[in-house]
Amino acid sequence: MRIVVLAGGIGGARFLRGLKAAVAPGDEITVIGNTGDDIHLFGLKVCPDLDTVMYTLGGGINEEQGWGRAAETWSVKEEMKAYGVGPDWFGLGDRDVATHVVRTQMLGAGYPLSAVTEALCARWQPGVRLIPMSDDRVETHILIDGEGGEGRRAVHFQEYWVRLHAGVPAHAIVPVGAEDAKPAPGVLEALAEADVILFPPSNPVVSIGTILSVPGIRAAVAGAAAPVVGLSPIVGGAPVRGMADKVLAAVGVESTADAVARHYGAELLDGWLVDTADAGAVAAVEAAGITCRAVPLLMTDPAATAAMARTALALAAEVRR
Ligand code: GDP
Ligand code: CA
Repeated sequence: MRIVVLAGGIGGARFLRGLKAAVAPGDEITVIGNTGDDIHLFGLKVCPDLDTVMYTLGGGINEEQGWGRAAETWSVKEEMKAYGVGPDWFGLGDRDVATHVVRTQMLGAGYPLSAVTEALCARWQPGVRLIPMSDDRVETHILIDGEGGEGRRAVHFQEYWVRLHAGVPAHAIVPVGAEDAKPAPGVLEALAEADVILFPPSNPVVSIGTILSVPGIRAAVAGAAAPVVGLSPIVGGAPVRGMADKVLAAVGVESTADAVARHYGAELLDGWLVDTADAGAVAAVEAAGITCRAVPLLMTDPAATAAMARTALALAAEVRR
């Protein structure tokens, strides 16, 4: 069976670990990763979501934090600070830096991001095929109020998310460069040949929404022969982790499990899983033409996550057209 997953960082990566435990031998998992969070820092190209997937599945992740390398040290960061060179709000650990140096060097030599990602994965052996959504540069920017209430300004997603902790109103979310971006080699083919397409509990706006903003990808998901099943990142009216409610509000979507399903819509989704806490949302989702089940959706441990993945695959089998 060929399974294709559209993934952001932590939510996507943790789900993928459960999915790997749930599939049968011989099943192939292709991950289309979000690159809208990518940022250039100190001359280095950083791809936080691709790296979170790679480190999590490859056994190198900092488990408690959910991002970055295990047993990390921070000498580079301290040395940059001693030079007075910022930004100091983005965590670039010493071990992690090596990944960005290798990536930047390969990009500089002319390799596309998809080939670079494959090369990095040769070390990490994530057990999935990880493809960036696009080889072209796409960077999510957030429109916020200007300093001192003067007009509005756009900041990089990481500045809004990491420095500002999504603590200021977001007026618009723009995947800069997306309209001219092409899906990376293999993305459309994987979607066309998939037996199942899954939306893990990743951020619907700045992770999965950004992937879908690359021309051709949304249509490929909507037109795929495979059933599309998603899992809600919103449980009991709030994100399980992080600040997805802030970016959902910016696109006019309530932070509820059923509003997120309706935001994707029946054009994209055939099935949707909500947490048992949101069992009351099932009817509204089904009224929108999406088959819905309420099951435990907290990725508290590998077994619970694998059970979520098995339920998603079972729902996909049920709704297969
Ligand atoms: P990011 O790029 O690191 O922000 O990660 P993703 O976009 O892949 O996933 C972020 C989303 O994962 C957040 O909106 C969380 O609500 C969701 N999430 C995290 N842990 C869980 C969990 O245990 N269960 C569910 N249902 N969602 C989760
Ligand atoms: Ca992300």
